[in-house]
Amino acid sequence: MAHVSVNNARKDYGAFKAIKGVSVDIGDGEFVVLVGPSGCGKSTLLRMIAGLEGITSGQIQIGKHIVNELAPKDRDIAMVFQNYALYPHMTVAKNMGFSLRLKRMPRTEIDQRVGNAAKILGLESLLERYPKQLSGGQRQRVAMGRAIVRDPAVFLFDEPLSNLDAKLRVQMRSEIKELHQRLQTTTIYVTHDQIEAMTMADKIVVMKDGLIEQSGSPLELYDRPNNLFVAGFIGSPAMNFISGNMTEDGFRTADGLLLPSERRPPEAVTYGIRPEHLRLDPGGIEVTTVVVEPTGSETLLIARLGTQTLTCVFRDRIRAAPGEVLRIAPIHDAVHLFAGDEQRITS
Ligand code: ATP
Repeated sequence: MAHVSVNNARKDYGAFKAIKGVSVDIGDGEFVVLVGPSGCGKSTLLRMIAGLEGITSGQIQIGKHIVNELAPKDRDIAMVFQNYALYPHMTVAKNMGFSLRLKRMPRTEIDQRVGNAAKILGLESLLERYPKQLSGGQRQRVAMGRAIVRDPAVFLFDEPLSNLDAKLRVQMRSEIKELHQRLQTTTIYVTHDQIEAMTMADKIVVMKDGLIEQSGSPLELYDRPNNLFVAGFIGSPAMNFISGNMTEDGFRTADGLLLPSERRPPEAVTYGIRPEHLRLDPGGIEVTTVVVEPTGSETLLIARLGTQTLTCVFRDRIRAAPGEVLRIAPIHDAVHLFAGDEQRITS
């Protein structure tokens, strides 16, 4: 086991700066998820930690060692890739034991480690099959098995679930989490899927344009996003943003409608409210129904507030025809305010 520490790491591809000075500390046994939109640099950062990409400047430490100059095989890490990278001509057992054979580990120990990993992952009956005889989920498990047998200090996952269908993704998500609870190996996991990040992580690192926007526990990021980007990225359906101004009466939308909020000096702000923090309320503000979408467990309402659009999620089943006027109110202490520079200003 080991902690991982990235200190002011940069990565330039010629004139393009993919990673612009990133520092992050990952505790021993922690499950950290790097998340962000396509192109934000999360895979590059993971590959720098793995040693598959060089580092332009800064420092990466795994356990006691500065690993900047170490080859991937000497970093005591195991990586699971999006495409699984299985050898098609080798059986599951051979695929899983391959790295150990390279290390010239004795045959009996290889068999034992492969057997253990197969048991943990439910692959025992598939050990003599070839990758093409496996389902997507089974291949994914073999790829994890290959990582587990090495008993590394750190697991690195690069979007390992993106080739699976939605249902299997949810299942594998809990399997990976359960595996982590069992093995307690330090894990760094890359995804662009914020729900995967929220459900799996001890700590989420949100990246954008080669920089870290915010890091913290899933609920810290959800409850107190530092800026508009994190507020909009974490949470599904996404937070509503209403543009307007603080006035002496409270927050006024760009259309002049008054919404409850804490009192603040006059300035242009963005008012953020999550869809699940809006309630039907006879004393609330008028909105006009655009669409009602029942999912069974909840109801999604898209409505117009002046010229702006709001998404609301209600636990109750409601009916409203397009054009029907409803009254809604935000939960008082669930309002987020962001200044003109997109930074959070609520206390
Ligand atoms: P995705 O979710 O799409 O995989 P990502 O956040 O993982 O995105 P990276 O793959 O880390 O993004 O890429 C970050 C940026 O660096 C991108 O703009 C990409 O085009 C650029 N980049 C990556 N590899 C190279 C390379 N070898 N040469 C030049 N630019 C590169």
